[in-house]
Amino acid sequence: MAKFCSSCGNKLEDGASFCSKCGAKTGETKSTTTYNPGQKSKIAAGLFGIFFGSLGVHNFYLGYNSKGLAQLLISVLSCFLLSPISAIWGLIEGILILGGEINVDANGVELSD
Ligand SMILES: [Zn+2]
Repeated sequence: MAKFCSSCGNKLEDGASFCSKCGAKTGETKSTTTYNPGQKSKIAAGLFGIFFGSLGVHNFYLGYNSKGLAQLLISVLSCFLLSPISAIWGLIEGILILGGEINVDANGVELSD
């Protein structure tokens, strides 16, 4: 099956990943470049925040380690007397994550649905 360059229309060699005429990338490598193994799950992060927000689990999961640590320490250092503060904080963040208000992890990688 003949393929053509999407930017200049040149006929492409079978399996070529670059156009020989203009150098544009062909669709051959698309499946590997769009797959992002580091992508975190939005649902998982949101549920972690709602159920384990007082321990900062969702922030550790997303790589926001200092924020997660703050939530964890508020709970642990107060012998869990202040854990409702972290829990509500985590709950709000969990809802923001599920609602798409927080949609990237600490590395700027978009969360998957
Ligand atoms: Zn081309």
